Amino acid sequence: MAAIPDSQVGTTNVLAGLESTFADELGTLTVPWQGAEAPDPTLLILNEPLAATLQLDVEALRSVDGVGVLSGSTAPAGVQPVAMAYAGHQFGGYAPLLGDGRALLLGELENSDGQRVDLHLKGSGPTPFSRGGDGFAVVGPMLREYLVSEAMYALGIPTTRALSVVATGRDVRRTGAEPGAVLARVAASHLRVGTFEYAVRQGEVVQTLADYAIARHHPELTGLPENRYLRFFEAVVEAQASLVARWMLTGFVHGVMNTDNTTISGETIDYGPCAFLDAFDPAAVFSSIDRGGRYAFGNQPAVLKWNLARFAETLLALIDSTPDDAITAVTAVLNTFDERYHGHYAAGMAAKLGLADKPIDRPLVDDLLTLMEAHGTDWTGTFRALADELRGNPTPLDGLVPREQISPWLERWRGALTTHGREATATANTMDGVNPLYIPRNHQLDAALRAATDGELAPFEKLLEVVTHPFDRRDEWSDYATPAPKVFSDTFQTFCGT
Ligand code: AMP
Ligand code: MG
Repeated sequence: MAAIPDSQVGTTNVLAGLESTFADELGTLTVPWQGAEAPDPTLLILNEPLAATLQLDVEALRSVDGVGVLSGSTAPAGVQPVAMAYAGHQFGGYAPLLGDGRALLLGELENSDGQRVDLHLKGSGPTPFSRGGDGFAVVGPMLREYLVSEAMYALGIPTTRALSVVATGRDVRRTGAEPGAVLARVAASHLRVGTFEYAVRQGEVVQTLADYAIARHHPELTGLPENRYLRFFEAVVEAQASLVARWMLTGFVHGVMNTDNTTISGETIDYGPCAFLDAFDPAAVFSSIDRGGRYAFGNQPAVLKWNLARFAETLLALIDSTPDDAITAVTAVLNTFDERYHGHYAAGMAAKLGLADKPIDRPLVDDLLTLMEAHGTDWTGTFRALADELRGNPTPLDGLVPREQISPWLERWRGALTTHGREATATANTMDGVNPLYIPRNHQLDAALRAATDGELAPFEKLLEVVTHPFDRRDEWSDYATPAPKVFSDTFQTFCGT
């Protein structure tokens, strides 16, 4: 594959300090590449607090050169952007070559915690991995990723973060012409299960990749004389079990949990057809392309475990030279997934119900979920309503579930709180610290993105402010705490690959 012409190698110093250890150490998994020209780049949004943690100069990022770099049309000085190769299981079927078909890894920066993070562009133009795609992205979906990833971050859920969105001035064909855009995002890394699936079929590079991933995400394992790769696998299983438990506790539906969208770092990545539940429903699917419901809300833990099995397969030769022994070893670790997941979920549920630090009675949780499912109760609203109930205000809960249906459960819950010696108001306040009041509600996000696509950013900016303060009640934000009207929810879908 052709490298970029010399004339396009970067000259701007906007991203001083950018390094490229991935491209240097794993060149066979990358193609040096350059973003497309942006006809009329405009910075729509810049995450200044995030820029500060990366020690980036906000004024420089806002300059013509800075916006050029953030749009992908200008390469930063000193490093060579690359498109990363990866494979992946998509809806269960194996695709041997996916890769960054509309994205580029600019390089890596050190953040203020001393961690190496990737700076990556999405929507920056065609690459050798574009296959049938145009290589571009449009304003609505890029702002969607910006807002949802920042909301996830504010909720304390491991996630890639959004640095900026630049409108490119290019018309991109979707259902009609839409304004093109490039998202710049920051991630612990862009190593995916799919990166390993690709590497293992290239031969020995999988060991270099595993060593790189260990050095970057689990340096404590670096010098381990024995079982290093098995411990690495276990660390990824743990990170992902914890992550998917957080999704389940927050009502988040990722929507496209292909192995190329499953990270090694344990961060949520690739916000495409994702959504938050309004009514609790384990079968909820929002993605228009997920016709079989493979990635339905309630299937997420099982799918994640399936993805981890695909990851395990890539490590077998590193774990033991005797294939049967390698399989036995990874299977034993993979089988810890359920217990790890349930442990994280139970601990999170205990906190949501004001019973933190104590083992929670599983039927108490299951019976609440059964009630919520039967009544199509708003997931986010219920836990805040339960705290209000403890403060002596029954109105919010009465709006969600018929009192006579939930009364027996409430008695059992109050009994559990008493057994644990919890005082009502203090418990309610603690619950409010873990149960968000504001999440990106599908109808509001949809409306904000439509306005932004038409050039009106104010509703987006307002929604972003609200969802990045998910726990602080403000009277003027009351509209943002309510679920979508039923007529919206009944037909709402999100679209992938847009
Ligand atoms: P995603 O669904 O965004 O995780 O992408 C899955 C695969 O499709 C990746 O290899 C992407 O690079 C590729 N892809 C998605 N959209 C486009 C596009 N517009 N042009 C080229 N490749 C794309
Ligand atoms: Mg992806």
